[in-house]
Amino acid sequence: MKRTNFTQLILLFSILFQTSACGQTKSELTWPNGAKAAICLTYDDGLSNHVNTVGPMLKKYNFKATFYPTLASSSIYDEMDKWKLLAQDGHELGNHTLYHPCQKSKPGMGWLKDYQDLDQYSIEQLLEEIQLANSFLSALDGKKNRTFAYPCAHYYAGGVNYKDSINEYASAARGSSEDQELVKSPTEIDIYNVPSWAPNNHKADDLIAYIEKVIENNSFSTFTFHGIGAEDMIVSKEDHEEMLKYLDAHRDEIWVTTFKEATDYLRSQQIKN
Ligand SMILES: [Zn+2]
Repeated sequence: MKRTNFTQLILLFSILFQTSACGQTKSELTWPNGAKAAICLTYDDGLSNHVNTVGPMLKKYNFKATFYPTLASSSIYDEMDKWKLLAQDGHELGNHTLYHPCQKSKPGMGWLKDYQDLDQYSIEQLLEEIQLANSFLSALDGKKNRTFAYPCAHYYAGGVNYKDSINEYASAARGSSEDQELVKSPTEIDIYNVPSWAPNNHKADDLIAYIEKVIENNSFSTFTFHGIGAEDMIVSKEDHEEMLKYLDAHRDEIWVTTFKEATDYLRSQQIKN
């Protein structure tokens, strides 16, 4: 081969390589119906206000969400029919364990009871608890597949990281914002540690600013809500409804759906890319 041809060949390869590398870095990921981004509304810990306040409010605006009840919560027993109705309305009941174990060794965990201390669990014990929570949830909604949310976004049971085992029990898992950026490129999102933000006494403006950031980045994220108008880590009913109104007015821009549906879709898109 002549030297010039060889140089041309190298140049050609280099151009081809750059094009393909460029194709990989540029996100080809698209959301259904031309939406720019996706967001999930999730509600944790099986609080009574979820079935009495949130469910009716979501129905009013026709949004589907994911609830992660702690199955030992009193509302699950006292208001079981209402929890079944949430599932019948198209919401996801996700796995958040039976007892909500977290690592007592982490800061701010003074509220944990001794039996909830994940540092004292074995991984086998935790995985059996997760399996039992799946069985319980299946009795409520008749479904075999669902997602998981790490209680307190703690990942170590008895010192062993259980994140790598969760795919045997759930199709995807919600993490926290603790050790990751809130808004990531959807192609970079780990399906078993999806970013989330947990508002605590935040106002509608804060919630809407976060949604705008997700839209701006063509990304996917989740809200981790607790009490709406009552109980724990409260966001007021009025602020929550303002957020729903905003989402309702921007349906063409942002896809709002259950965590299961969004992550199933995201997985299929990540495989394609
Ligand atoms: Zn929780």
